Amino acid sequence: KSAGRNRIIISEPHKPTTIHRHNQMDMVATLTQALRDGQLTLFQQPIIPLITAPTQLLHYEVLVRLHTDNGLINPGAFLPAAQRYGLLLRIDRWVFNRTCAWLAEADNLVRTEIVNVNISPETLADPTFMMFVKRCLSDHAVSPGKICFEITEYSAINHFTLVLRHILKLRELGFRFALDDFGSGFASFDHLKRLPVDFIKIDGKFIRELGQDATNKILVQTVTDIAHALGKQVIAESIEDPQTMDILRELDIDFGQGYYLGRPVALYT
Ligand code: C2E
Ligand code: MG
Ligand code: MG
Ligand code: MG
Repeated sequence: KSAGRNRIIISEPHKPTTIHRHNQMDMVATLTQALRDGQLTLFQQPIIPLITAPTQLLHYEVLVRLHTDNGLINPGAFLPAAQRYGLLLRIDRWVFNRTCAWLAEADNLVRTEIVNVNISPETLADPTFMMFVKRCLSDHAVSPGKICFEITEYSAINHFTLVLRHILKLRELGFRFALDDFGSGFASFDHLKRLPVDFIKIDGKFIRELGQDATNKILVQTVTDIAHALGKQVIAESIEDPQTMDILRELDIDFGQGYYLGRPVALYT
């Protein structure tokens, strides 16, 4: 309640609670300043078709970074504090608006097909998010069909009803959805059946050990078959070598992402 009315603060029990509070408070101060002074920045990492011939149409995921005097900081180091202290919504909004602006600029240079944007359940649940999204789309004249929101399996399951309701509303506008980090949580057949997502992104921990672990291969294959039978496409994250690529092709995975295919790099304009 202290954060104001009409908002949902979602706690993530798997995040360490022993986090040194003052470190988090330092991070919150840094982030607040960064949001004010424009010190957040976006990187992009390519998502590449594995089965069909590579096309000229580009597909990316955008990943947020924080500029500090000590260099760039990855989201793993600041999103937990942002979440705990109610800054995720502002960060996600900044990322969404910046992505729209970039799509509008980049459209003249490259034919970007889809940009994946990570989104938190806090943001989906915000009652003003829909209005914000519509305004960004119209400000930058961007088609929602070019944007795919990524929501983690963990968030989707833990806030299922809420997430489902907002996915349905945003889909009506034309946005696409991907279920991120799939396999790291406890999604059931029922979740898979009811979540209207276009893509399933298999968590990197299954992909990184694909060559060494026969069980991982069976799991990845089975998830892919189920996804395809449900009319969804599959993206493998964390592809780090060519051997993994060969296995993924053999398993009929649609898209790949990872250091081997392209590291995250600063957005060009
Ligand atoms: P994610 O959405 O699963 O993003 C993939 C992460 O894996 C990225 O880390 C990426 O740099 C990393 N990665 C890519 N290829 C490889 C690889 O071959 N090997 C390995 N080991 N890692 C690889 P990053 O950028 O540090 O992002 C971490 C997480 O932070 C993301 O995981 C996502 O959940 C979250 N995140 C990033 N940007 C945003 C954002 O704008 N909003 C929200 N809400 N969350 C974000
Ligand atoms: Mg993601
Ligand atoms: Mg992921
Ligand atoms: Mg991941």
